[in-house]
Amino acid sequence: MAEQLKVVGGGERGGEGGGENLMEITPLGAGQEVGRSCLVLKYKGKNIMFDCGVHPAYSGLVALPYFDNVDPSEIDLLLVTHFHIDHSAALPYFLFKTNFKGRVFMTHSTKAIYRLMLADFARVGKAATEEQIFDENDLQRSMERIEVLDYHQEVEACGVRFWSYAAGHVLGAAMFMVDIAGVKFLYTGDYSREEDRHLKGAEIPSIPPDIICVESTYGVQTHLPLYEREKLYTEVIARSLQRGGRVLCPVFALGRTQELLLLLEEYWASNPELHRYPIYYASPLAKRCMSVYQTYINQMNDKIKNKVAQGNPFDFKYIQNLAGISDFDDTGPCVVFASPGMLQSGLSRQLFDRWCQNSKNALVIPGYCPEGTLAKHVLTEPKEVQLLSGQVVPLKMSVHYISFSAHADYTQTSEFLSTLNPAKIVLVHGEANEMGRMKSALQRRFENEGKSIEIFNPKNCQTVSMEFKVDKHVRAVGKLADRIEMKKGQEVSGLLVQKGFKHTLLEPEDLQTYTQLSAGTVLQKQTIPVQIPFLALKDQMASIFSKVKLEQRKGKEVICIEPGVELHSQEDSMAVLQWKSDPITDTIADSIVAVLMQLQMKPGVKKASNGVPYRVMKSLARDQGEVDTKTGEKLFNPEATLIDEVLESIFGKVEVDSSQKAWIVNVGDVRATIDMQTHRVDCKDERVESQIRVAIKRIVQALYPIDCGC
Ligand SMILES: [Zn+2]
Ligand SMILES: [Zn+2]
Repeated sequence: MAEQLKVVGGGERGGEGGGENLMEITPLGAGQEVGRSCLVLKYKGKNIMFDCGVHPAYSGLVALPYFDNVDPSEIDLLLVTHFHIDHSAALPYFLFKTNFKGRVFMTHSTKAIYRLMLADFARVGKAATEEQIFDENDLQRSMERIEVLDYHQEVEACGVRFWSYAAGHVLGAAMFMVDIAGVKFLYTGDYSREEDRHLKGAEIPSIPPDIICVESTYGVQTHLPLYEREKLYTEVIARSLQRGGRVLCPVFALGRTQELLLLLEEYWASNPELHRYPIYYASPLAKRCMSVYQTYINQMNDKIKNKVAQGNPFDFKYIQNLAGISDFDDTGPCVVFASPGMLQSGLSRQLFDRWCQNSKNALVIPGYCPEGTLAKHVLTEPKEVQLLSGQVVPLKMSVHYISFSAHADYTQTSEFLSTLNPAKIVLVHGEANEMGRMKSALQRRFENEGKSIEIFNPKNCQTVSMEFKVDKHVRAVGKLADRIEMKKGQEVSGLLVQKGFKHTLLEPEDLQTYTQLSAGTVLQKQTIPVQIPFLALKDQMASIFSKVKLEQRKGKEVICIEPGVELHSQEDSMAVLQWKSDPITDTIADSIVAVLMQLQMKPGVKKASNGVPYRVMKSLARDQGEVDTKTGEKLFNPEATLIDEVLESIFGKVEVDSSQKAWIVNVGDVRATIDMQTHRVDCKDERVESQIRVAIKRIVQALYPIDCGC
């Protein structure tokens, strides 16, 4: 049985950084730009990074996200959505060139393809003699640090609960839902709701998030239907080949390329007149890329799964692998898929330089091109371009842009957000203008729908702060849940167990049943020299404590002082004080040790003190002599002074509440109030109360003459 209790007053307390309910979201990259995706979420003391990519328009360190804006050692968790370099290629750097010590998660297929993708990226970078941000060795080592998860698999790491949904876009792409203390944050990464030849569209999470961080690549644009784009694409290629031209498709080695290869394979199969034109998939990793795709067919859609029965759908008949430009026999019309996708360097750039001056040739750019890249530049229809050699030449090849990049368009994103209806939206992964247009359009739509959703479009390093107040809930379980009545304002006490942000209240005996904890006792032992006979110690203890008993155990004497506190006799004038440790018995043990040490120093004190420690008697003697210098009256109140000092010798610091005329003693969490005049003790803990009573009784007995009856 379990009950949900709402803790009144929870979640209001101020904390570090302007309150514990403050959530801070900072893009370190992809803030009003496309590239180097990296976002940091801070909430309730947890720091989570989403994605760790490079900017494809830059090289070397400037391509990295603004890591210096955070302390990497404070990042608990890094979740990588997919293998595209603008989301993953800064990971080896972040792992080994910063003091990041957290955990990294991605899906199985993302991890497998990340390895190939980044090897290709490092190779292209090296060939271009750019400043390397990581090498093959870093990449290999990063594989050991990456942990994997499946879609929908719930993981709890670093006190944060999270799981992922299929994002469409590319194989293995995930949207991450993170739950921190009941607040749910969805990070879409790159996503597409549209099903294609091999991937399902992005899922709509069944649990609505409070905040969504969503890509805004296409702003308010709406894509042509997929079949129209496919028609345009295949026709442009066929036309160029038939006029005797060569067709260059600059692509990433993996991802959307596989979709395009499936499309061309199918088109070639149904158009025999094209069979004389070869299609090349140029990548030194071509074979391995294809085998990874074959491995993860189970993560793809039914269309491709159904094809498996007729043979491996990625084992192409009309497409040949090409390891590099040296193997390429450039003799006539052909189609070449070559990386990198933005024509920065590498094979795609070499072929572009070779073919760009011939008007029969065609460049078909099949995906989104970030600002600052050559691919983006040629889309502006420049008359001339600069080759890698530095030579400026006329651009004559035809340039086409038909997007298959599988990013959601405005229609998909506005539907997606409207359905999930979060309280806040943070836009990332979009150029400033596209993002701004999307923000306005979304605001208009939500206003018309009567929804109050706040939308943010932060720049890099600009922090979005928002308050999220969450009621704290405690789950009462087991015997305690059976015992309590659910009434408003009822006080409930039990053992509170916290795991991450979950709280459970239970009876101590249920601890092992409902948690992985078990109760234990700390038995403390201290060996103390004693100068007086052991049995005389019993009287000494009985003068301070009320329940002192002498027992014989295995032929040895044991003085039981309080429940759980015992003094065991030892040879050679030694005694062992033994107690089951808790705040109260610890205090009792301290006072026993103090008494024993005084006896050790002055064994004769026993007769004189009548149970009152020697130090106290000395102070009594001192105080008795003090007189008010003006009135000549004695200032001394021996009873009050003694009680104050004895309490202090037993319990530590004694506060004096002069308005109430009371002493206040704190033992652990237990507070006791002692009225100075009546000696009435108010305390919730019986043990402490009885100990104080006995101590006061002994002092009073010691101070006043004993009535001998004569
Ligand atoms: Zn992507
Ligand atoms: Zn991206």
